[in-house]
Amino acid sequence: MSDRKEKSSEANSNQRGTKKFSSENTLDEGVIAFGEWLMSAEDLSARCGPLSLRKMINDDEILLFDAMLNQDVIVKMIGGVPECGACHNDTECMHIGFSICVAQMNRRNAI
Ligand SMILES: [Zn+2]
Repeated sequence: MSDRKEKSSEANSNQRGTKKFSSENTLDEGVIAFGEWLMSAEDLSARCGPLSLRKMINDDEILLFDAMLNQDVIVKMIGGVPECGACHNDTECMHIGFSICVAQMNRRNAI
């Protein structure tokens, strides 16, 4: 009985924090991913980065596809402040970095 408990707590302590990304998951990475996505949209032979834009919804929701998570991620702009649907505890993640770039591009010329 007590053996089982020890094993499970050991497994938990081996996971450092709740980090589920292999990358650093920073704003900068999102900006880089945006550049890669732009390149791949213009040049089909270019490699697409980990993130790509699926679509914008009502100008304040951005639907992304994250190839590392293999799932869609929604970033909502709440009063101009982006909030990531995948990394709830993180105010700075690569999805937000990517979305800030998308929002800036959208303001300049409609996608
Ligand atoms: Zn995120």
